[in-house]
Amino acid sequence: MGSMMKGEDDLLTIKIQGDGPMEGLTITADSKGDVKGYVYNPDVMLPPNAKGKLDVGGALGVGVLSVIQDIGLKEPYVGQTILVTGEIAEDLTYYYATSEQTPSSVALGVLMNKDNTVCQAGGFIIQLMPGASEEIISSLEKKLGEISSVTTMLNQGMTPEDILTLILGDMGLEITDRMDTRFYCNCSKERVEKALISIGKKELQNMIDDGKEVEVNCHFCNKHYVFQVPELEELLKKAQR
Ligand SMILES: [Zn+2]
Repeated sequence: MGSMMKGEDDLLTIKIQGDGPMEGLTITADSKGDVKGYVYNPDVMLPPNAKGKLDVGGALGVGVLSVIQDIGLKEPYVGQTILVTGEIAEDLTYYYATSEQTPSSVALGVLMNKDNTVCQAGGFIIQLMPGASEEIISSLEKKLGEISSVTTMLNQGMTPEDILTLILGDMGLEITDRMDTRFYCNCSKERVEKALISIGKKELQNMIDDGKEVEVNCHFCNKHYVFQVPELEELLKKAQR
């Protein structure tokens, strides 16, 4: 979804807030394939769902999915839908249909190892061009109904290109671009300083009065940033400007 944005500095944020034990999650992605995210409460252990899969829907519960696109306009574009199933691919399909009026098929999957590490993870988004014929739609629906899950295909050694060929191969598939994706966090001491300055003079003064160093953790990558009292005093001066 990030790579579907056009500008260098465009940023996509997905926020899910739910009433399940995980409480929600925040993910950001840019147009270069850099992605980072975190869940609000990571200590959730649930039995597998009825299909024997990771119970993402049970962990998220009922709530709201927001897609925030910052594409350099004065205000970011925000689209919201209610969480229909808590299974993220289905909810994104619903989001595209309702908020962006774009018929889409979104598939996502994560296959876990027995030791709770990730074995396979992947997905696809297929969207119809305006004016796509009924013939194309029904043949696509038929194909999508026949294929196995993304993780099964990845686990069989199929590449993203193989998966696309399987689904769209008889429709004149043409691959026009390839892009790597990675977990990447752009946090830095400077960014954390700005965040500390933004919490206000009163809060900073309270921290200084406590006389102890302050540790700030990045939610996305768990990096720790420590600020000594003299550093906090410097920040307070900046906050007063
Ligand atoms: Zn970070």
